[in-house]
Amino acid sequence: MMNNAISTDALFGMTADRAKHYLDDIRHRHIAPTTEALTALEQFNHPLPEGSTNPNETISRLDEIGSPATIASTQGRYYGFVVGGALPVTVAASWLSAVWDQNAYGQATSPVNARLESVVQEWVLDLLDLPREAVVGFVSGATMANFSALMAARHHLLKRAGWDVEADGLFGAPPITVVVGEEVHASMLKALSLAGFGRNRVKQVPVDNQGRMIAEQMPPLDEMTLICIQAGNVNSGAFDPAQAIGAKVRDAGAWLHVDGAFGLWARVSPELSEYTIGLELADSWGVDAHKWLNVPYDSGLVICRYPAALSEAMIARGSYLVEVEGREPYAYVPELSRKARVIEIWAALHSLGRSGVRDLIERSCELAGYFAEGLGKMGFEVLNDVVINQIVVTFGEKTPEIIQALHEDGTMWAGPTTWHGRHAMRISISNWQTTLEDVDISLKAIERIASISYQGVDS
Ligand SMILES: *Cc1c(COP(=O)(O)O)cnc(C)c1O
Repeated sequence: MMNNAISTDALFGMTADRAKHYLDDIRHRHIAPTTEALTALEQFNHPLPEGSTNPNETISRLDEIGSPATIASTQGRYYGFVVGGALPVTVAASWLSAVWDQNAYGQATSPVNARLESVVQEWVLDLLDLPREAVVGFVSGATMANFSALMAARHHLLKRAGWDVEADGLFGAPPITVVVGEEVHASMLKALSLAGFGRNRVKQVPVDNQGRMIAEQMPPLDEMTLICIQAGNVNSGAFDPAQAIGAKVRDAGAWLHVDGAFGLWARVSPELSEYTIGLELADSWGVDAHKWLNVPYDSGLVICRYPAALSEAMIARGSYLVEVEGREPYAYVPELSRKARVIEIWAALHSLGRSGVRDLIERSCELAGYFAEGLGKMGFEVLNDVVINQIVVTFGEKTPEIIQALHEDGTMWAGPTTWHGRHAMRISISNWQTTLEDVDISLKAIERIASISYQGVDS
């Protein structure tokens, strides 16, 4: 016993030191790993050890080979995808939560998780100003949130049509018409395919130059229609017109789902209400915590206006699965056993408070505006209206090589995209650490690299 306790002390102490060193180092490091660091990953390629290894040695090895080969996405000049960082309080909460090792399945396996889920459910509905009677399920990300919402929609629409989809499946069921925008996120199509709706069975509504669905061009809706809109286009950050679409959906008795992976957080800011108004009219919402809220992976929320629709779709009944009074965590997610990911969300919301979340969102948007302005002054064309935290900028035909050179330079990181047929780079400001200084440093790096690249080809 004694020996175990001592070795745990040393192991955790050493790991904490290594973690601290990683964080201290990361702002000065190349954002993408060096070739050397990538080559060193080969050292992981060995057969399963036949015997045991000292845990200290296991962790040292993980840190020495693994840490240099990470993408330094937790620091402020990583603008790739919509990754976000992790607030220190959420990392600390995650450490404590790992020690607790709670199975978030139900009240019986973790009272603390069950209570925090109930509390955070209320906080989130309040913060995002969504129907207070809605329920929130804690899933691994927006893809699973969207998928879970589709399960609830499927249940609700088919039950109303007299069909028990959980019992009898989709074969022979009354058909559901699925409507999405032409700019639908790839993960929404994946969720539709997982849910049995089929990726190609969808009706696609044309979009405008920002990627927003054109409400006037929606097909006729009825009570067997499921329509998926988005709050926050993954490139431009644009919002589908929720107010106009929501009114039509309500009249028709259709189901409206919002993929709000990052954009739904814009609802915390009154300054952004012109984009987010009407999103409250939906029946379900998917949103990430691991992107803009800056909690560690993997963490997303499915929100459903009708608790019974989600729980009827998700519930598993077994003789040893005792049902008790009150909100049961397992009733609103696809998994049974899972990690208590609400703990990190609770820590973020408790620590930031309403004003802190609002500040995080508004600061990102302001920095995106400043970044776009800087790019414009340097003569580069920003292709989108920068409405929240997303910028799409083009360097013309040279865009791919400039992005490549930026990655090699390592000062900042942003990824490529195609926007209305044009090569572009997408910049997402979604990390709590990004400062004005980071944006200035990044603008300088872009200017330096773009000027070399333009000269290189001209001469
Ligand atoms: C990131 C994203 C998703 C997928 O979310 P994951 O958390 O990666 O599963 C879905 N929709 C939009 C608009 C996104 O930006």
